Parts: sequence; C-alpha cells; structure tokens
Amino acid sequence: MGAVVVVVVVVVVVVVVVVVVVAPPSPGTATDATARPPTRRPVRIRVLRRTTSRYGWAGPDPPSVRLITVTTLTPAVFVGHGNPMNALEHNRYTEAWSRFGATVSPRAVLVVSAHWYVNITAVTAMARPRTIHDFYGFPPELFAVDYPVPGDPEVAARVSEVVKPAYVGLDADSWGIDHGTWSVLVHMFPKADVPVLQLSVNAQMSLDEHLALGARLHQLRTEGVLIVGSGNVVHNLRLLDWHAPGVGEDWARRFDDAAREVMTHDPAGLGSVSAHPDFARAVPTPDHFLPLAYLAGLAGASNQRAQTLVDGYEMGSLSMTAYQLPGATL
Ligand code: ZN
Repeated sequence: MGAVVVVVVVVVVVVVVVVVVVAPPSPGTATDATARPPTRRPVRIRVLRRTTSRYGWAGPDPPSVRLITVTTLTPAVFVGHGNPMNALEHNRYTEAWSRFGATVSPRAVLVVSAHWYVNITAVTAMARPRTIHDFYGFPPELFAVDYPVPGDPEVAARVSEVVKPAYVGLDADSWGIDHGTWSVLVHMFPKADVPVLQLSVNAQMSLDEHLALGARLHQLRTEGVLIVGSGNVVHNLRLLDWHAPGVGEDWARRFDDAAREVMTHDPAGLGSVSAHPDFARAVPTPDHFLPLAYLAGLAGASNQRAQTLVDGYEMGSLSMTAYQLPGATL
C-alpha cells in the first residue's frame, strides 16, 4: 500500500479503588496490653488495585522491572521490639538496632509489624504515612513522638508484583507507621530520611503461608530494600511481671533457645517450633511471633542462616532476641 501506518500506543494506567472491609482481630488475639483493645466495628481499608501495569504493559505477565540495579543482597533483620518506651530509651537493645542501621543504606525499609494484624495482606502505599500511636497508658512524651518518614508508592507497587500469585493490596490511607515500626526505626534510622512501608500480618494465613510469603519477598533484597520483621519471639502479656526487668522465666528461655537453634541452623524449618512444649505459653497469640517467619522465609530463599544481633529477656515473659541475615555480594 505504501501507506504508513502510525501506531500510537497510549498507555493507560487504570487504578481502581476497591474498598475492602476488614474484620478486626478477634478479642484475645491482638497486639499488646499496651495496644488499644480491638474495635468491634469493621475497619475499612481502602485498597488500590492496579489492573494494568504501571509500567505500561498490560496482560498477565508483565516484564520484570527492577527498582534499581544493585550488586549486593541487602541485609534483613528481625527485631524484638518489646516495650514501646524503647523508643525513648537507650539500652543495649536500642544500641544494637542503632549499630545495625549504621551498616546499611537501603533504598527503602519494608517493616512487617506485629501491630498491623488484620484479615488481609496489605502494604502501605501512601507518599506520607502518618505516625500512629497505637497504645494507651504511656507518658505524653511517647505520644509526642513523630517519625515523619516518606513512604514510597513505587516500592509498594513492587511488593505487590514480586509476591504474585499471592495478593498484597495497596493501602492508600487506612494505616501508616505504628509503634512496632517507629519505636525501632527512631534508633535504626534516626534521621527519618529513608522511605518506610509496612506490610500487614494477615491473621487468616498459617505459619507455613507466612514463611512462603517471606520467601517471595527475597527479590526485594536484590533491589535495595531492607526488610524488617518487628515482633517478639516470646510474647505473653498475661504472664508479664512489670517488676522483673531483665528477667526471663525458664519456659521463656527454653522456647527462645529452641527458636534460636532453628534460626541459626535451618531457618526455613521454623514451623517445627510450633510442636515445642512451651509454644503455647511463649506464643499465646500469633501476632508478635509471625514477623519472625518473614526473616525465616527470606533466609530459606537466600540459603542463609540467621545471626543473633542482640538477645535478652524482659519482665519474665518477653524475649528481646533480634536476628539478622547478612548482606552479600551477588
Ligand atoms: Zn508489640
């Protein structure tokens, strides 16, 4: 024909706003004695679902797009965050978190926090996440803490891509930065200059499913994202003794030791600790234990063993053990 056909490709990114009603954790399964009791009203979480790749390729198999090209595997870490007052204090735990933070320069931090325990897997996708004070009965100085980090919607989109076929919703405005995250990061990244995202702990998923989801996040370690699990390996608030600083009951030590044996030798086998005779006392609710499964899953994906970053006990029934996966050259 001789005619020149000009094809104009218009890339349309369609963003559909989906409102998902999330039931709160059932009473007795959530968070802290320090946290607000679960509300009986459903929590509405607004999730953005992309129906077309933001990079312009439609279809079920978008090409893999890395955030940045790096030649190193970013470290990963699990932190026992303990008492929210650690945000204001300086002790050997917070000093270990601070030292760790000084060794890494991530593009962003993705925190799996025990305090976002809901019936869906979601990642914060807002540009300016708010600081959430999800506790009561603490001094005004703690409520005055602000951790004004930026979010990173691009990394949030990347999270939802790398976990496929698992589903992670993009949370536009329901959550932000809770104290499981900021009580640690004010020490790890005190300048608040590294973008921070949170990944919820889905109360509907089994331990094995959390391990598998953790493994799927491995790709992000090759793209400069620091993944942080924030909870406590041993966390029984009903047995807490506020007058026993630095103390760990025998059963708490036994379980923490068993978990350490697995994390430092065969992290992917973390599921075996659920058969430990002290599991029920150490993990009466799953919220604070499950963030450890993300580090275990990451360890399995990179064939690494965890190293103890700091350890100790508080108030009889809390373990403060923190683990890291070292960085590596790819
Ligand atoms: Zn907590």
